[in-house]
Amino acid sequence: MLIVMKFGGTSVGSAERMAQAAQLAVDSAEKGHQVVVVTSAMSEVTDTLIGAARHASAGQWDPPVRQELFDRHEAVADALIGGDAGRHGAVLEMLRQRLDRFEKLCFGLSMVHELTPRLLDAIAATGEMLAAPLLSAAIASCGRASQPVDATELIVTTDQFGGAEPLMEETRARTRARLQPAIARGEIPVVTGFIGATADGVVTTLGRGGSDYSASIVGAALEADEVWIWTDVDGVMTANPAEVPEARTLSAISYSEASELAYYGATVLHYKTILPAFRQRIPVRILNSFHPDRPGTRVTVEGDAAARGVKAVTSIRGVILVAISGTGMQGIPGIAAKTFDVVADQQANVLMISQASSENNICFVISAAEAPRVVAALRSALEVELMRGHIEEIAAERQVAIVAAVGDRMRGTPGIAATVFGALGQAGINVHAISQGSSERNISLVVADQDAAAAVRAIHRAFQLDKTT
Ligand code: ADP
Ligand code: ASP
Ligand code: MG
Repeated sequence: MLIVMKFGGTSVGSAERMAQAAQLAVDSAEKGHQVVVVTSAMSEVTDTLIGAARHASAGQWDPPVRQELFDRHEAVADALIGGDAGRHGAVLEMLRQRLDRFEKLCFGLSMVHELTPRLLDAIAATGEMLAAPLLSAAIASCGRASQPVDATELIVTTDQFGGAEPLMEETRARTRARLQPAIARGEIPVVTGFIGATADGVVTTLGRGGSDYSASIVGAALEADEVWIWTDVDGVMTANPAEVPEARTLSAISYSEASELAYYGATVLHYKTILPAFRQRIPVRILNSFHPDRPGTRVTVEGDAAARGVKAVTSIRGVILVAISGTGMQGIPGIAAKTFDVVADQQANVLMISQASSENNICFVISAAEAPRVVAALRSALEVELMRGHIEEIAAERQVAIVAAVGDRMRGTPGIAATVFGALGQAGINVHAISQGSSERNISLVVADQDAAAAVRAIHRAFQLDKTT
């Protein structure tokens, strides 16, 4: 079986974790599987890099950052491959080169005082480029031939910096040409997650948390048998365990449930991860690198056929609810069309839409980063309607959250909405907007940001999601 396995930041966050990750990859190879590893940066490194870039562009380049990053990675090299002078020297040389590049970029920023998305990607990509040589060396020192591979050689993307999309045909060709010979020799390539490059070779990133997506892109390109996501929890759970301590691990979910959950805030999977796997029906497993013996979650077409109703509850915090309202909107055609044309023009991603049946209110939810320009564009596009009084107000309500209850078999199960709203009513939580997709596998609602955790817990409790069905 060909397995593409991805290790998240905490799963490679220290020498001990990195050794464990290497062992997990080697164990699978020893069972006779072909293995390709995709690695994240060590935990918090990407945040540090982005912070340094922002500081530098404000004119404050902070030279100790380079040394701190070097020291942290060097300590891992010392612990894992210190006894092998040749390998150790080669890895340190790679770390130095990559940090030189980082330092030069930051120094440049501190001179020009400007941080473009393109430069930010070039800098943010450094974390994975430091982790891959270390993890590869750790695998080699367990006795399996391995080489680090920069995903800039494999994943060809659009130039949407900060959220680039793979061009699958080119990606497939390059990934196969570069990795298949090594796999055939029994090697374990270690690919940098999170990053890619345009056809011209300019470094891009796939978005924060994007290493999961890298794994499914590489898995699809290689027609892998499975994609495994090693992380720091037991799998996809009925809620974020950091928020709901009694949350339970789901043993099986469908592709559509997984992508709906990820889209609505279950950060355990990057929300784009599922699509490349789904297209080729490649099963995805989410596993705990701290407890590799646990079964984890398996994502497949059928999911869990025995499950009923709501499977999990998620939330997205800190989003903006834009509401367009006015009693004069009733019966005036085209306001909704105009509104969403503007949103599309601004390339904003709508997380949820709701329109009251009285037709005197349309509201939708977008990210805080996109809200100011969307609202400004709406005010200008709907100027006439505002002037005539058909629309009274275009309001952007800050500090809201979306809470979503998700499950394939919510469809045809009566009473779910009643249970959701009953639970929120009992908890004294006010609901600002509601939406249910026609697929009926999701009910989402908008609540005040400070109520989000309580809302998630109330819904979790109401459906007794802590108990197996
Ligand atoms: P990694 O670094 O391995 O990619 P992430 O931090 O991106 O890990 O994702 C794992 C985290 O996702 C967990 O520690 C947990 O706090 C969070 N999480 C949010 N929602 C869920 C959920 N429904 N099930 C499991 N984990 C979740
Ligand atoms: N290192 C990247 C991030 O922190 C990608 C990832 O970990 O998935 O966003
Ligand atoms: Mg992640």
